[in-house]
Formats: sequence, C-alpha cells, structure tokens
Amino acid sequence: MTTEIQAPVPIPNALTEAFWQGAAEGQLVMQRCNACGHLQHPPEPICSACLSFDLGSAAVSGKGTVYTYCIPTQAFHPWFADKLPFVLAVVELDDQPGLKMITNIVDIDPEAVKVGDRVEVTFQPFSEGFFLPVFRPAAQ
Ligand SMILES: [Zn+2]
Repeated sequence: MTTEIQAPVPIPNALTEAFWQGAAEGQLVMQRCNACGHLQHPPEPICSACLSFDLGSAAVSGKGTVYTYCIPTQAFHPWFADKLPFVLAVVELDDQPGLKMITNIVDIDPEAVKVGDRVEVTFQPFSEGFFLPVFRPAAQ
C-alpha cells in the first residue's frame, strides 16, 4: 500500500468561503465593501478603505497583469515536488488599481513569463471540491 501525498487544502471560514465557493463555480470572487465598493484581497474583517464592517463579495473580471513572479526550484511541501518548476506570481487585477493576488501562471513555459504580461483567470482542481484560481496568457 502506498501513501499518496495529499495537496494542502484550505479550510474555508466566514471570510474566505465566498472565494472558494466562487472558484468551484468558475468565478473569481473577491471581498467587496457594501459601504464604499472597495475590493480587497485577501479578505479581512474590515474595509481597508472606509473601515466599514459591512462586507460582501462580488465576481471580478478575472483579467489582469503579471505584477511580479518567481520560479521556485524547491518544493515547500511534498505535494509540490513533482510540479516544479512552476510560476508563482502576483497578478494585479483590472478591476481596481492595486487589487493583487498571489497565484500561479500556467499554460506557458515558465521562462517565457514577463512582468506586464496580460493574463486571465482559469481554475484548476487540486483537491476534493476545491479549485484554485490560476492565470494563463490572455486570449488576444
Ligand atoms: Zn469600504
């Protein structure tokens, strides 16, 4: 009997549930302030723009730009060992200046990724019921 290495999985809570539920439904969902409309990620208990506690969520465009990236050469968890090399990136979304998320860039040679590349979201299943929002080169 072999022991299969399991992917590290999130434990959704009241703040992150909308993000993971959206991803499972093929939508990139961010926390949105009901008082001022500010989008923020990762989700927080309070709006960083107006300090309101009245927070909801909204689907965003899923389009953005590579802000920065690196190509890890060592796995920080055994599950990633056979996935190297991959592109670990920060993508700035079009929906609001400064709205960024940590993600992966896929469907491209890691060495070909450049800061400023246009990308669009796609979703990769990685564990039972969980889909990870990752980005691929945007369609022309
Ligand atoms: Zn606000």
